Amino acid sequence: MTGREEQLKEVSAVYAELAARPIERNCTATAQCCSFRATGRTPFLTKGEAFFAIRAWRAAGRKVVSAPPDGSCPFLASTGRCQIYEARPFGCRTHFCEAAGGPFARAEVRDLIQRLERVDTELGGRGGVNLFTAVTAAMEEWETDPGRGNRRQKGRCRGRAK
Ligand code: SF4
Repeated sequence: MTGREEQLKEVSAVYAELAARPIERNCTATAQCCSFRATGRTPFLTKGEAFFAIRAWRAAGRKVVSAPPDGSCPFLASTGRCQIYEARPFGCRTHFCEAAGGPFARAEVRDLIQRLERVDTELGGRGGVNLFTAVTAAMEEWETDPGRGNRRQKGRCRGRAK
């Protein structure tokens, strides 16, 4: 198993642990939070989250991520559904959507954020990057880095934000 695959397993484990926590939230997939221009807020992704998302995107046969002209998420279908829902980033799971119960308190998920930041460091990331930039870079690297190994760059992991 390559370094990248190991790191993606850790991202998956973080998402699974989040889902198992007894925190009252209920995403009803209204996709309101996916319209970034309307909300004025965009999820920021660590590198592992970006790779996890584009792996799902590629698994569906897609090799390009395009920015929609309406400023919404590139993974949002015209039907209003997330096309990578099972692989959606951490920010989409802990978001600010009031209909889903509002944002998670950072203290509730700090340990999980720290695990994603460790993965980010192992993959040579620079901390949280806005969704479109993060997934575009991840897609390009996925195509051009056949080794898919660790690219650790010490001291470059910044905090993530939403
Ligand atoms: S990844 Fe999915 S849930 Fe997250 S903003 Fe994009 S469409 Fe919405």
